[in-house]
Amino acid sequence: MKNKNYVGFNIPYFSGNETNYIAEAVSSMKISGDGVFTKKCHAFFEEKYKFKKVLLTTSCTDALEMAAILLDIKDGDEVIAPAYTFVSTVNAFVLRGAKIVFVDSNADNPNMDIGQLEKLITPKTKVIVPVHYAGIACDMDKIMALAAKHNLFVVEDAAQAIDSFYNGKPLGSIGHLAAFSFHETKNIIAGEGGMLVINDDCFIERAEIIREKGTNRSQFFRGEVDKYGWVDIGSSFLPSDMIAAFLYAQLENIDRIQTRRKEIWNQYYQALKPLEEKGIQLPFIPIEGTNNGHMFYLVCRNIDERTALIAHLREQGIHAVFHYLSLNKSTYYKANLNNTVSLIQSDRYTDGLVRLPMYFELSNEQVALIANLILQFFNK
Ligand SMILES: *Cc1c(COP(=O)(O)O)cnc(C)c1O
Repeated sequence: MKNKNYVGFNIPYFSGNETNYIAEAVSSMKISGDGVFTKKCHAFFEEKYKFKKVLLTTSCTDALEMAAILLDIKDGDEVIAPAYTFVSTVNAFVLRGAKIVFVDSNADNPNMDIGQLEKLITPKTKVIVPVHYAGIACDMDKIMALAAKHNLFVVEDAAQAIDSFYNGKPLGSIGHLAAFSFHETKNIIAGEGGMLVINDDCFIERAEIIREKGTNRSQFFRGEVDKYGWVDIGSSFLPSDMIAAFLYAQLENIDRIQTRRKEIWNQYYQALKPLEEKGIQLPFIPIEGTNNGHMFYLVCRNIDERTALIAHLREQGIHAVFHYLSLNKSTYYKANLNNTVSLIQSDRYTDGLVRLPMYFELSNEQVALIANLILQFFNK
C-alpha cells in the first residue's frame, strides 16, 4: 500500500498541448521523421540557444552513437570520460572499438576533475567526453584548451543540461558536438528522445547522412541532389514526427518549467544548507556555471548513512534514490576492459549520493516536509 502522502521521485509533467500536437501530426498524414514538428523543434533550439545545427534523435544514447561515428572512432582509439556517469556516455564509443579511460570526479561535485585530465592523454586519445552532471557545467574553457593543445575532439554529454550555461554560453554549444536527452526523467521530455548538436560546420553534412541510414536523403529533399542513395555508413536515428510534436509542446513551456524547477531546487538548498556543517555535501555550482533545476542531491558520509536516510524517507512515503555505480566497477568493464584504476571521488559518490524528489508539480509543502524529515534524520 502506498502511503497517502506518497511523493514519487519523478512524475512526468504534461504541459497541456502534447496530445493536441500529436493529433495534429497524425491528421497531417506525415508522421515519419523530419516533418513539421521536427522542423519546429530544430528552429526552436537554433534560435533560443544559437546552436549552429541540431538534429533530433530517438535518444541521447543515439546522439552519442552518431557522435562516435562522425568522429571516426575505431579500434584502439582512446576516449576519456568520467566513471561516474550513465553507461551510454561510454557505450557509444565502445561500440566503435574505443578504449575508455576513466577520469575521477571533483571533490566538490561529480563533474570530471580537470586537474587529472592531461596526464591521461596519450597519442591514441581522440575524444574527451565531459558530462555536465545535474546540469552543472564542467570547466569547458580548460577542457577546450586541452583539446586544442592535443588535437582532440570534445563531445559534451549534455543529457541533463538543457537551459544551463557556462560563462553565459549554453551548455551543448561549446564542444565540437553535444548530446541532449528528452527521456521522461529529464527537465523537458518526449518519453524517449534526444538531440545531437553540431557546433563545427565540418560535421553537418555527414551528420545528416549518418542519421538517414547512410543516405543523402536530406539533401535530396532540399533539392540539392537529383537522386539519393547509399553514400556512407549510418543508421536510423531520426524520431517520428509524433515524438517531435510532443516535444514541441514542452518546448513552448520551457521557461515556465525551468522557473518552477529552480524554485524547488532553491527551496531544498536553503532548507538543507545547515547540513554542510555536519559534513553532508550539497550541490556545488562553480561561478562560471548555472543551475538548471535538473536534480537536487546530497552526498552522505558513507553508504550505511545513505541506506538509512533512504529508508527513513521511504517510511514516510518519500521516494529518494541513489544514482550511478561508478562504471569502472561495472560487470562489463571488469570483464572486458579491465585496467584497474582507483577513482576515490567517483567511489564516494557511488556510495553516498542520494537524489531527492524533483518534478514540476512538487509543492512547496512537499519540499518543506521532505527537507524537515532529512534534517530530523541528521539531527537525531
Ligand atoms: C539520461 C542520460 C543519458 C541517456 O539518455 P537517453 O535519452 O535515455 O538515451 C546519457 N547520459 C546521461 C548523463 C544521462 O543523464
